[in-house]
Amino acid sequence: MKRALTDLAVFGGPAAFLRPLLVGMPTVGDRARFLARLEWALDNEWLTNGGPLATELEGRIADITGVRHAVATCNATAALQLVLRASGVTGQVIMPSLTFAATPHAASWVGLEPVFCDVDPVTGCLDPARVEELITPATGAILGVHLWGRAAPVAELEMLAAEHGVKLFFDAAHAFGCTFGGRSIGGFGDAEVFSFHATKTVMAFEGGAVTTDDGELAERLVALRNFGIDRNKSVTAVGMNAKMSEASAAMGLTSLDAFEETRERNRDNHALYRSELHGVPGIEVLPFDERERNNHQYVILLTDRAVTGLHRDRLRTLLQAEKVFPRLYFSPPCHLMPVYRTDPPLRLEHTERLSERVLALPTGPSVSFEDIRRVCSIVRLAAERGEQIDAMWAQAVPA
Ligand SMILES: *Cc1c(COP(=O)(O)O)cnc(C)c1O
Repeated sequence: MKRALTDLAVFGGPAAFLRPLLVGMPTVGDRARFLARLEWALDNEWLTNGGPLATELEGRIADITGVRHAVATCNATAALQLVLRASGVTGQVIMPSLTFAATPHAASWVGLEPVFCDVDPVTGCLDPARVEELITPATGAILGVHLWGRAAPVAELEMLAAEHGVKLFFDAAHAFGCTFGGRSIGGFGDAEVFSFHATKTVMAFEGGAVTTDDGELAERLVALRNFGIDRNKSVTAVGMNAKMSEASAAMGLTSLDAFEETRERNRDNHALYRSELHGVPGIEVLPFDERERNNHQYVILLTDRAVTGLHRDRLRTLLQAEKVFPRLYFSPPCHLMPVYRTDPPLRLEHTERLSERVLALPTGPSVSFEDIRRVCSIVRLAAERGEQIDAMWAQAVPA
């Protein structure tokens, strides 16, 4: 494969002198500030169990998302599990398949059955009409995903959930700092879940949070994340350990301090990608609704092989040969992963079509405009010479 790649490197060959460009490079913020917070936690000798830094982070998340309660956790996957458990959901959970494996895993891990639903072909988020078809007496909840920071169809899903008496949650791992209809994501449905994993726009090494206006739910979450110990110090539920440590909270606060700067850099990066690739046939950089606030954490390239003549995976390999490492958000989609695949496989037309077209490109404060121009020149050339490259490929890499 290595040799084939070299043969195919029509753009100058593997560029060993260049810095690799990755998706999800960490947004640390002011390192000195982080270390000072860490020193403070060590001096204070309070390292976990709802310490002052985790509590401060919860307060700031609640303020930013405009909710009454934010419950910080060790990661978003655990937060999803907690919220499903704490809400007493049983049976099936309707969710998109075009998401990270953590979404169905969280439901499965607490004994619920993920039911994969097709998405809107344009937004990539749940299609409410398809959701409605899947609602049965076994449905316990709907779990929407704000894919790439763009809100799921919140109003339609809220109506469906109310009409059928099921819970509604959102996996908001992509959508910290985003709005829908001018309202902050975090306050929709019964609860929403954020991720502060190292690759996310605000990061705490590992971390997550549930946001909700429901005080009773928040209290159950606080107990469940701490072994089921309630406010009277009595163990009243089968809890787990899903607390956020003070080290993670120190990182989360510092990354959050830098969030507006990160957002601006990402917005400018996204705009440059859009303009550099504007008008390239068969290539589109997914736009964001200018009326909403977006974190611009993801630069999503949609490729159309019918136009470029070039398979998405070949474009990806070409970029990798030039030290640019796009990610597939998400391919294969969850319903086709070995763990969830059925026989015969479920067919989700729009999910599968989108999944085959998407490449997420590198962004973040450490990606320069020059980097982006380089990435775009590779994409442009590849798209223009798509058929030629496909033909060369067939020769270099016999099927
Ligand atoms: C990152 C991510 C998660 C998992 O978050 P962790 O904090 O790593 O557990 C869940 N869902 C989506 C859509 C994600 O992107």
